[in-house]
Parts: sequence; C-alpha cells; structure tokens
Amino acid sequence: MMQETCGSLASGNLQLPLLTPWPTDSLSFPHQAPSMEPASPSACTPTEKSTTGKKIINNKRRLTIDDFEIGRPLGKGKFGNVYLARLKESHFIVALKVLFKSQIEKEGLEHQLRREIEIQAHLQHPNILRLYNYFHDARRVYLILEYAPRGELYKELQKSHTLDEQHTATIMEELADALTYCHEKKVIHRDIKPENLLLGFKGEVKIADFGWSVHTPSLRRKTMCGTLDYLPPEMIERRTYNEKVDLWCIGVLCYELLVGYPPFESPSHNETYRRILKVDLRFPPSLPLGAQDLVSKLLRYQPLERLPLAQIMEHPWVRAHSRRVLPPSVQMAS
Ligand code: ATP
Ligand code: MG
Repeated sequence: MMQETCGSLASGNLQLPLLTPWPTDSLSFPHQAPSMEPASPSACTPTEKSTTGKKIINNKRRLTIDDFEIGRPLGKGKFGNVYLARLKESHFIVALKVLFKSQIEKEGLEHQLRREIEIQAHLQHPNILRLYNYFHDARRVYLILEYAPRGELYKELQKSHTLDEQHTATIMEELADALTYCHEKKVIHRDIKPENLLLGFKGEVKIADFGWSVHTPSLRRKTMCGTLDYLPPEMIERRTYNEKVDLWCIGVLCYELLVGYPPFESPSHNETYRRILKVDLRFPPSLPLGAQDLVSKLLRYQPLERLPLAQIMEHPWVRAHSRRVLPPSVQMAS
C-alpha cells in the first residue's frame, strides 16, 4: 500500500500525518468540486477557486470547526458521526466526519486513520469520494469529505432488493475505472462492498472507506457472514495477495446487486469459507447470460486468471447496459 508521510502533528498519543503532494500523472482527473488541497506546507495554495472563479476557501491557515455551519446528521459511524456541513466563507457543502481521538486510541487504530487520510486525500477521481482536508482539536479529528447526496448503495439495495442490469453495469464500469486509477497508484482497496459505496448526485458510485474499513469491518450486517462474503480465497488462506483481490470483490458485488444476495452466502462461517475456496458459484437461471459470463470471469480462484479491469470496461454485457455519465469537467479533459 502506498503511503507517504513526511511528518506528523502530535496531539496526545495520536499522530496525524502531514500530507505530501502526490506526483501528478496523466490520470489525475480535474474536479467539478472546488479543490481544497491537503494541508501540507508544500501543497497549500493561498486561495482555492471554484470553476466559476469564486473563492472557495482560504488555505493559508488550518481550518477549525468555527469555519463551518453544521447541518443535519448524515449517519453514525463506529467512532463518531457524519454531518452535512457548509463552509461559512464560500457556502461550499461537505460531509464532516467527526471522530473521537479517545475511541481511536482505545482501539489502537491511529495507524489506520493515518492511512485513510494519506490515501484518500491523494486520490482524485469522479468515482472516489474526495477527502478534501482534515483538522483536529484536543478531543476530535474532523475529516472534510465530499458530500454524497444519495447516500449508501447498501441502503438502496436493502430498499429495492436488487438493481437492474443498467444500474449494475454502470456501477461495474465506474468501479473498474476508479480501481484502474487506484491500482496505478499502487493502492488496493480490499474492501469493496455495498456498505463502502456511496452515491453521488446523479447516482454515480463513490468509493469510500479507504484503508480504514479493511481493519474495522462495518457492523451493519448483523451476522459475520456478511463481512466474509466478499473475502477472496487468497485472503482467507492468508496467502500474499495483490491488487487482484479487488477484481474478486467486484465480481461478488456484481452478483449481489443483480441477484439480491452474495454468491457464497451460507448459514455458517465455515460453509461460506468452504464455498469461497471451492468457488462454488451457482447462478439463478434468471440471471442474464452476459452477467453470468462477467461474474464467472472475475470469480476465479487464481488471481491471475481474473478478468483485468480494462476488459471489464470492454465486456459486451457492460458495454450493452452501462449508462455511465462522466462529470462535465472530466468529459472536457478527455
Ligand atoms: P466506518 O467508516 O468507521 O467503518 P461507517 O461506514 O459505519 O463506519 P461512517 O463512514 O462514519 O460510518 O458513516 C456513517 C454514515 O454516514 C454512513 O452510513 C453514511 O450513511 C453517512 N455518510 C458517511 N459519509 C458520507 C458522505 N460523504 N456523504 C453522505 N453520507 C455520508
Ligand atoms: Mg464509512
């Protein structure tokens, strides 16, 4: 996992990173949302402007909670709450994730938090939730996140039970593109599942929970089976793994979105493990053949045999059904 830390801000026992600028490359997408670059001395710009030229935020000084108007709670996490919030100066809307240092330290998760901040702050892609910046006070750490107006994919799936081919294929294309970007930066997500996917204004997917939920599985699925369902064989067998684990996870996701439950779901943990290791994949006859083809090419025991991301985007079923719309700023750049 790529991680660059050039210093730290000490506060109690919790050390937070000073972010280093990520090397720019051809895949750094321009953003619709105004950029608030990570607050390292080298990465700071005096002022940030929106695409319309309006000044959004003054990055000369570190932000504090007084810079925000706090709105309704968006949800409750394990270590704190997430609120809708607005920057007083620019009226820019964000999601403010408030984490309690005491809880993070109690669980020994300082390292994971540092990693979440390091990784997510450096990823800029239309299908990855932006982490614009962070700040902290004596008791809390605040993550300034892109606001995802349509909430969690998990909740949508609970409501509608399944998604149609169009929606699922669109999500597969979005995820394949976002993961291509991540893998080029040597970032493996390792925990793609509906709980970690948020939805943007137009329903586009936004990958969240980088380097964080890997070690803190969400408690929202009541049984442990829920969290086991997305585990690739090499992680169950504790073998060394690489970015191909993400291909397995999106294969499981594609199946769950179309069928309504994940492919290896079983009454017991042992049975789930056994079915994953055997790749005991059974398709309901109602599942379209094109989707069956894609899923069976992703759910391969051997990581090297899994369909590469570029070929997911070109897969005939994805091409036939995806209705992906890129934000205008990305369309112009490409
Ligand atoms: P963790 O990430 O610590 O494993 P979690 O995913 O359960 O825990 P949070 O990430 O803290 O919890 O988020 C809590 C809830 O807030 C989510 O379930 C989601 O509904 C909402 N939420 C989080 N971030 C955003 C966001 N950027 N935009 C909109 N809603 C969000
Ligand atoms: Mg989360």
